[in-house]
Formats: sequence, C-alpha cells, structure tokens
Amino acid sequence: TGGQIGFLGLGHMGAPMAANLVRAGYDVLAFDPVPAAQEQARKDGATVVETAVAAATDRDVVITMLPNGKLVLDVYADLLPAANPGTLFIDCSTIDVADAKEAAARTVAAGHRALDAPVSGGVAGAAAGTLTFMVGGAAADFADALPVLEVMGGKVVHCGDAGVGQAAKICNNMLLGISMIGLSEALVLGEKLGLSHQSFFDVVSTASGQSWALTSYCPVPGPVPTSPANNDYQPGFATALMTKDLGLAANALRANGIDGQLGALAAEIYTRFNQTDAGKDFSAIVTDIRNRSEQ
Ligand code: NAD
Repeated sequence: TGGQIGFLGLGHMGAPMAANLVRAGYDVLAFDPVPAAQEQARKDGATVVETAVAAATDRDVVITMLPNGKLVLDVYADLLPAANPGTLFIDCSTIDVADAKEAAARTVAAGHRALDAPVSGGVAGAAAGTLTFMVGGAAADFADALPVLEVMGGKVVHCGDAGVGQAAKICNNMLLGISMIGLSEALVLGEKLGLSHQSFFDVVSTASGQSWALTSYCPVPGPVPTSPANNDYQPGFATALMTKDLGLAANALRANGIDGQLGALAAEIYTRFNQTDAGKDFSAIVTDIRNRSEQ
C-alpha cells in the first residue's frame, strides 16, 4: 500500500484526521460537499476535489468518515466502480454492524478490499492523532492499513472479520451508557439518603461498584476535577453521539435476538434526554435523573 489516499467526510472528526495524514507526508485527495469543510481541508494542505468519485480515483486507500451507514452505502455505490482494482476501502464512520458487513461484501464483490475501522477518542483524539481504532476485516488488509491508521491513532486493534470493528465500538459504548445511567441513579439515591458525592466517591472508587464512569468521568462536580460535570457539562462526549451509538447497539441487540434489556432501556433513556439536551455531555444524564425524581 503506497501513499495515495482519498478522504471523504471532512467534518469534526474527518478534518483533523485528514490533516494528520497530510502532515505525515501522504498525498491526500479530499472531498466533502460543504464549502467550509473544503476550505479547512485546503488550509490543512489536502488537495480538495469536486466530487466523491474524484477522491477515490487512482488511490491506494480510500477513507470515509461519514454520519451514517446509509450514506456510506450510497457513497460506496458511486466509488466502487470508479476505484482501481484492489483499492483498500477503510470506513471509519460509526454505523450499523449490518451496514458495515454489507459495505464490506459489496466492496469485495467489486474487486476491492474493505475494513471497518470506527474510532473512539473524539475530536481531541482526532486532532492529537491518538484515536483508538477498532478494526474488522481480513488480517492482510489490516496489516496494510496499519501504518495509515497509526498516523491517526494511538491504539489500533484488529477485532475480527468484517463488521466486528463496529461490534467492538457499540459493545463498548452500550456498556458505557448503561454504566453512566447506573452510576447516576446510585449517586442521586445517595444524595437523597444523605451520602455526599465525595464520600460516595471515596468508597465506591475502590469498591466493587467502581467504573471508568466514576473514576475518570465522574458525572457530578468535585471528585474528578477534569470531568465535564465541572465545566457545566460541556462535551466531552455529547448526548447526541451517545444516543446515536445506543441506537446502533439496540438495533444490533434486536437483529441478533439478544435479551439485552438494559441496552434497549439505555437507548430509550438517552433518546428522551437527547430531545432537550443533545449538546450537553452525556454524563449530564445525572441531572435528568435528579430532575425526574421526587424533590
Ligand atoms: P460531522 O457531521 O461533523 O462530519 C460528517 C461530514 O461528512 C460532514 O462534513 C458532511 O458534510 C460530510 N459528508 C456528508 N455527505 C458526504 C458525502 N457524500 N461525501 C463526503 N462527505 C460527506 O460528523 P463527525 O462528528 O465528524 O462524525 C463522523 C463519524 O464519526 C460519525 O459516524 C460519528 O458517529 C463518528 N464518531 C464521532 C465522534 C465525535 O466525537 N464527533 C467520535 C467517534 C466517532
């Protein structure tokens, strides 16, 4: 795999990811339909092209960072016939596992190679080049993609076959959503029972109820000074994004016949909160639980 990259989707995540590839010396053809995104990519040193197809023509690697799975499938329908045989398509968007498998199957059927490689780490991780990549696809393709992914990421894990990168992403975020709700219910119950946030933290952070949500991302101000709760719940990881990921997880639970009651409920709880507080950090769910409780 050489250094010719096509990059589609220059939004909050894609723009800094593409910029890091340019900085590392890759030749990047970039496409996004939004003029402001094109302008930023030009400033970052990418060659901005006028169509999606142009960004995928004569490239070794084509990276997509798009809002949803339907769009990925639509864009792939245009790109697959236009790309050189054997082009390595890497989709970094967070999408349905079923869509990721479909995209990979169509890519391979068209004579190309496919990886799903969703990320965690947010905009800050994208800018710093420290994203975690969760990758699904063939081992040989993963090996070829590794140098490119390591430019944008700090940790790159090959999780399994096509779609399994997306599986890792939604399993992690489903657990995170459930654990943030569970932690928040316990904190609000503790408040009512006279347990201070600091005492709760001092006990639970080293007891069996310990979690990343508590020790790194505490949803109330005080015990963990760097958490978004101390900054008026500015994200961080926005409720809108958590709601999206929980929706994908709930779809996957249903599609695979899993009795995932808490995952489905977490999706409902965040969907409701998202109607009023989409832009707040997802840890603000603790305020919703408090507000909805008897005062
Ligand atoms: P975004 O909406 O900021 O960016 C998406 C970009 O895709 C937009 O600039 C849009 O104009 C562009 N686009 C739409 N149609 C296109 C097309 N046909 N061709 C090329 N570009 C097109 O979204 P984002 O925050 O950058 O997220 C991108 C993906 O990464 C999503 O799947 C999201 O779930 C995932 N993700 C986001 C974060 C985060 O913190 N923002 C973290 C992890 C994963």
